Amino acid sequence: MTRTARGSADTPVDQPAEQRPMFDSLDPRTDEVVGRYPVHDAAEVAEIVDAARAAGRWWADLGFAERKKRLDRWRVQLVRRLDELAGLICAETGKPLDDARLELVLVIDHLHWAASKAPKVLGKRKVSPGVLMANHAASVEYEPYGVVGVIGPWNYPAFTPMGSIAYALAAGNAVVFKPSELTPGVGRWLVDTFAEVVPEQPVFSLITGFGETGAALCESGVGKVAFTGSTETGKKVMASCAKTLTPVLVECGGKDALIVDADADLKAAAEAALWGAMSNAGQTCIGVERVFVAEPVADRFLELLTARAKKLRPGGEPGADLGPITMPSQVGVIREHIQGAIDAGGRALVGGPDSVRPPFVEPVVLVDVPADAEAHQEETFGPTVVVERVRDADEAVERANSGRYGLGATVFSKARGEELARRLRSGMVAVNSVIAFAAVPALPFGGVGDSGFGRIHGEDGLREFARAKSITRTRFRIPLNPMSFSRGAGTVRRVVQLIRATRGR
Ligand code: NDP
Repeated sequence: MTRTARGSADTPVDQPAEQRPMFDSLDPRTDEVVGRYPVHDAAEVAEIVDAARAAGRWWADLGFAERKKRLDRWRVQLVRRLDELAGLICAETGKPLDDARLELVLVIDHLHWAASKAPKVLGKRKVSPGVLMANHAASVEYEPYGVVGVIGPWNYPAFTPMGSIAYALAAGNAVVFKPSELTPGVGRWLVDTFAEVVPEQPVFSLITGFGETGAALCESGVGKVAFTGSTETGKKVMASCAKTLTPVLVECGGKDALIVDADADLKAAAEAALWGAMSNAGQTCIGVERVFVAEPVADRFLELLTARAKKLRPGGEPGADLGPITMPSQVGVIREHIQGAIDAGGRALVGGPDSVRPPFVEPVVLVDVPADAEAHQEETFGPTVVVERVRDADEAVERANSGRYGLGATVFSKARGEELARRLRSGMVAVNSVIAFAAVPALPFGGVGDSGFGRIHGEDGLREFARAKSITRTRFRIPLNPMSFSRGAGTVRRVVQLIRATRGR
């Protein structure tokens, strides 16, 4: 059996060895055990998915209004018990308590949006039948997949999976959730509180374990899989889903760029770069990993950024600016990227290789890093940022677009913000702020290229968890029916005449 990245996977000490395997979730700040969870095998996953299938039918039959009532009640529970869940997020990820609270604020707002908008976005809507089918009524509505399997990462263990869970539930699906092995407690808490407002059926269920448990979910016959995690695992998930032709939504990693134009508000840009790069210790899929700054303002921008970065302190105590690196194996990647950048001729203006003191990493600001260095190309997922001087904002766009990822991006510019934003190869862009798009529930969230495909959040996020169902109904019969063996000799000729007259010019 796979062992956890940190901690142990074994059979529980107080149970006989033939009983189920268990694993511990640990506090990355102290390595203390936060909770102990079962490793679900493929047979158990299949059983849970079967139960969810029946629950999904029941949940879908409740209709939008009753589902909204239940989701609203759950939301109120989340608000009331926000600090309890924030404490658990802190314990499993090590992030500062206020960051965990902020994560939950976003969860709550998205849940509210998804539940309120689902009827309008997914409910029956009449559409024009068009000129050829004028005697028909036409409508479209969106039906749930039945069971959606959600596989989540650990970096935002509530916000990230809830981007799929809330929207999938609002669309009328049952959900089986496989949280990261590092944050199973957050998953357990979400499922348990949901069961308090929906006690009748297992509409939202949990499976825990390692990659094998996730793979079993992909092959269990669920209607759709929503995966959030690394690009490498995303490819494995797609391969597993391909065996059963299960549709999949893939939200993967990023290497987001922030562009500073010559006319930008430099203080705001430096503050945003700092938050984008260092908050959550850089373990953010839409974190800022690269900055491209226009030459005329580069010195001033770097002065502002480095002065602020030097003041940030990682730690496990409540007042720390950033927490530890949650997944121990990531520390090696961060170290390699910093060292590799310096070996290739880069310079560290803040921190350096010595900033890596597991489980913490102090902020690192790198400059003069060659474009082909890993620090420029690969997701670092740590509190580091590479700053590159460019001629102007146009070169910045070109450089930003050069990587294989395309998740989010940021532009600081007074005159050209939206124009530059449109030219960036990414799913989302914030102009004169950072990460703002994730906090707007109406905006779809997702990437291009190696950052994945499909969208969570917004109307697209609701439709991602439902299938379009198109219905036509004959309102009255007309003599001109070309789709019949009884059609007259001139019927198709008349239809062609009609299309020539209406569509031929
Ligand atoms: P991983 O890819 O390691 O894991 C993601 C999830 O997939 C975990 O639950 C993991 O389980 C599970 N898993 C692992 N192997 C398989 C498999 N073969 N089949 C099915 N499931 C499997 O990512 P991390 O948890 O390390 O998360 C960090 C990554 O997530 C970063 O790359 C980050 O950019 C990305 N991310 C993307 C976001 C987006 O919206 N685009 C948002 C947040 C993060 P287990 O943990 O037990 O191994």
